[in-house]
This record gives sequence, structure tokens and C-alpha cells, in this order.
Amino acid sequence: MLGSGLDICLVESGGFTPDAETQALCDLQSTGYPVRENFMSRARYFGGSCNLWAGRNMTLNDLDFEARDWVPGSGWPIPHAEVTRYYPRTFEILELPTLDRVTPEFLVKGMSQDERRLFQDGPFAPTLSLWPKSATRFGSAFGSELRRATSARVLINASVTSLALNAAGNAVESVRAATTDGRQVEIRARCVVLACGGLENARLLLASRDRQPEGIGNGTDQVGRYFMDHPRAVFGKVHLPAGVKVPMLRGRPLSDGKLQVGVGLSPSTQRREGLLNHYVTLELQTSGYAEAKYQSFIQTMKVVLRRGYAGSRWDFARSHMTRIPDMIYLLSPKELMPHLVYRSYVALRDAIPSRPAPRTYVAVYFCEQPPDPQSRVMLSEETDRLGVNKLKLHWRIGDPVRQSVFRMQELLGRELERTGVGRLEAGDGDPLFTDASHHMGTTRMSASQRDGVVDTDCRVHGVTNLYIAGSSVFPCAGHANPTLTIVALALRLAERLRAL
Ligand SMILES: Cc1cc2nc3c(=O)[nH]c(=O)nc-3n(C[C@H](O)[C@H](O)[C@H](O)COP(=O)(O)OP(=O)(O)OC[C@H]3O[C@@H](n4cnc5c(N)ncnc54)[C@H](O)[C@@H]3O)c2cc1C
Repeated sequence: MLGSGLDICLVESGGFTPDAETQALCDLQSTGYPVRENFMSRARYFGGSCNLWAGRNMTLNDLDFEARDWVPGSGWPIPHAEVTRYYPRTFEILELPTLDRVTPEFLVKGMSQDERRLFQDGPFAPTLSLWPKSATRFGSAFGSELRRATSARVLINASVTSLALNAAGNAVESVRAATTDGRQVEIRARCVVLACGGLENARLLLASRDRQPEGIGNGTDQVGRYFMDHPRAVFGKVHLPAGVKVPMLRGRPLSDGKLQVGVGLSPSTQRREGLLNHYVTLELQTSGYAEAKYQSFIQTMKVVLRRGYAGSRWDFARSHMTRIPDMIYLLSPKELMPHLVYRSYVALRDAIPSRPAPRTYVAVYFCEQPPDPQSRVMLSEETDRLGVNKLKLHWRIGDPVRQSVFRMQELLGRELERTGVGRLEAGDGDPLFTDASHHMGTTRMSASQRDGVVDTDCRVHGVTNLYIAGSSVFPCAGHANPTLTIVALALRLAERLRAL
């Protein structure tokens, strides 16, 4: 948008580093399936949650955009091509390996014989996760450009508390913001874009009740519903015999980034068996830890390393720091080493001809959660220090997610054995899920106001100058981490706004 001739005012709740008071404005009440603590799932300061993110990028696929009769409420009201059109620039912004790395031919070329057997003529299709050399932190990547721009102003430490509509209730007249020490500011603009993250976007609409007591855009009771994440579960183990090689499944460095292949359910398997779009990756086994603890330790460690924690460091130290040596053990070489060192390490390892010894990996399931109107956020009676009602999050994962995990596990066991690639040790009991901090669906895109909050231009139904950016507009989550799609949709929205 810079250089478009438009005057831009970016209103940011936090400062340039995390602080506990501002971070606490995100505190919420969880009444459904448990979610991770506030400081681990969002960063409320300049640059947003991408100050913490892992930088894993995936594209949605055609089936994710289709209305599937076995997934109620599925389908996007725009074709997939409306998003892929923006991929070339999206890949540049995210500093990802070039698009030609995403082709099936490229993947097959890089696979070992064992990996090819696993994917040939079976129920699976490879999924592809891409990383840049190091995860893009939007605050530092674009901060100086914003600072230099004469057409943009950035207000930091200004938390938006509500939006005020005009008397007719069909346009935003002003945006109200406050500092944590009580100063107030009112901003007027021709167009307003809410880009406060998948939970706060819905919260601000619900909390803006001057003209519409049910909240802005909520005439049909859609705001806050359909909350989705990507439930993740460490469930079971995969034993590989001596000699089996799985380089792509374990992840490869490239000259311009990294990639990792996952074992996904192919579109035809999903169609035939009525399954969700799940995939599995093989990760290092965790010695000495119960499976359920594996992810929370890894995630805690990663957040600490990325300076995301804004609570009391003393409390944190008491509860977690003593375990840091074990946590470091859980991080893979690619997360601990700079890109060049990691690449050299892998190249050196590969140059020494060797027959791999038998190995065991844990199977990590990354799941699609279907849209469910009962999985939702609402306003709680409690307010934050700025007087805005906190959110009550009722996360409901639903049986279809579990059923797809169990079926996928069966298929994985069968295929590993059929192809001689390995043996599955099935997970015990019910999978224990964690959220992935992918907050989606709460202001979903829809063709009509009856079943959503924003239209196909990401404009709030019935409000002429209010737009929403972010994964809250996703009507369906698919299997892919959301940020790549968020960036592509933001580019699309910027194009629309420039044309106004
Ligand atoms: C630990 C972790 C790991 C992750 N890993 C991945 C990954 O590997 N791949 C992936 O695709 N995604 C990942 N994510 C998710 C990713 O970070 C989000 O999808 C992405 O940051 C969402 O971007 P956004 O701009 O919509 O929201 P955010 O990044 O949350 O930005 C919202 C911004 O709005 C500000 N704000 C909030 N409320 C207000 C208010 N009332 N007034 C003014 N400003 C406000 C916030 O301070 C923030 O700057 C991860 C997230 C976490 C926490």
C-alpha cells in the first residue's frame, strides 16, 4: 500500500518489544478444549504473532476450496485461483524457496526409493512445508520501510477498544483507541481494515455495540462462530529398519530455504472415505518424555528463544527453566543452527556413504478442523484494563477429527508394512491435541450475510468501509498453516483498496 497515494495510519496495541500489561489485554477465558497459555499463542506488539512463529509455510489445495458433502459448511465462496494469483509476490515477501520447488516432479526427484514406494499407488499424497532461511519477522523486515514512508503513520501503544458506526449503521465513522495509562484517541479514516489476529478481529466487532447491540456485522449471529485451529497430536511411533532412507520426510535444506514432506491423505482418499485433510510428519523421538508433554516443552522452548514471553520471568523460570537442557535436546538441528551451518551439516552427513541404522520417530498428526458453529468465541462479562470485554473461547474439536486420525493411523500402519518401509506402533487411547496458534474462522467469508461476516472482498457485510485481514476470514481451514494464505489475501485486499 505504501506509494499508492493513500494515507495510511497503522494502529498497534503494543510497543516494539513485548510487555506484560499489553500482552494481558489478550487474556481470555477458555471453556472448551484447552488451549495454550496466552504468551505462547499470540504476541501483542509491533510485528504481531510472527515475532514468535516458526516460519512453516504451506499452500492450501483445490479440494480445500471445494464444498465437500462430507464436511458440513466447507468450501470457500471464491475459487482457489483467486488466492494462487498472489503466490509469486507472497513467496517473495515470505522469502520462501521459489515456486518451482512446489511441483510434484521436484518432490519425486528428491525422494529416496523408500519414500517413492510409500507414496506410489497408495492412499497418500505428499504435503509440502516450506521455510525461508530464517523465519520472516514482519516487524523488523518492514519496520524501517514504514518509518521512512511519508504517507504512513504508525501509532504504537494504542489499543483499539471499539469502532463507532455512523447513524445509519452502515459505515465506520471512527476508531477509538486507548493507551494502558488511560489516554484516549479517536481516528477517522475513509476505510478501516481490522487486522488484529483471528481472535481479536471478532472481539472488536462484538465489543462495538453503540449502534448495533449484537455487535458490528453480527445481525445474523455469525461473528465469533466457526472458530478453528489445526489440532496437533503426537500419536504413536514409526520404526524404520536398517537401510531405509527418508530424507524428504525428515526435511532438507535448500540453497534458499528448507522443505519437509509430510504424509497426507490424497484428495481421492479423502473423497472415497469421507475423511478430513490430515497429514503426518515424522519427528525425532523424545527420550524420557510422555508423548503428551512433547509438544508443550518444544513450544515453550521455542517461544523463550524468540523472546516472546512477556510475563514474570521469575514465575516462568521456576516452572520451566530447570528443564531447558532437556528442551534443547528436543529441538532439531535445523532449529538450532544458522541455515548455512545446517546445510553444510546435512551435506557432510550425506557425503559419507552409510547404511542408516534402525530408527524410531514419533508420528505427529496435523489435522484439519471442520467449521462448526458451536466452536466459537463470545464476549465474557469480565473486562480488561481498558474496559473491553474479554473473550470466552469455546474450542470444540469434534469427532470427525478423531475419526480421521484413527483411520489415517490404520492406513499408515498398513502402507508402511505393504511397502516394507517400516512398522507403526499405534498410539494409545485417544489422541491428546494441542492447538497450533492458528486462529481461524471467526469472521468467515461468505457470499451472503446469512452465513458469514465478510463478503468475497473481505468487506464486512452491510458496512461499506470496514474490511478484515487475517485468518478470521477463512471459511474452511484445510490442512495448511495459515500465514501464507493470510499474506496472499492481504495482497488481494490491498489491490481492492487501491482501486477504490
Ligand atoms: C508460537 C507460534 C508459532 C506459529 N507458527 C506458525 C507457522 O509456522 N506457520 C504459520 O503459518 N503460522 C504460524 N503461527 C501463526 C501466525 O503467527 C499467525 O497466523 C499470524 O501471525 C497471523 O497474522 P495476523 O497479522 O493476522 O495476526 P497477528 O500476527 O496476531 O497480528 C495482530 C496484530 O494486531 C495487534 N493488535 C491486536 N489487538 C489490537 C487492538 N485491539 N488494537 C490495536 N492493535 C491490536 C497485535 O499487537 C498484533 O501486532 C504461529 C503462531 C505462534 C504463536
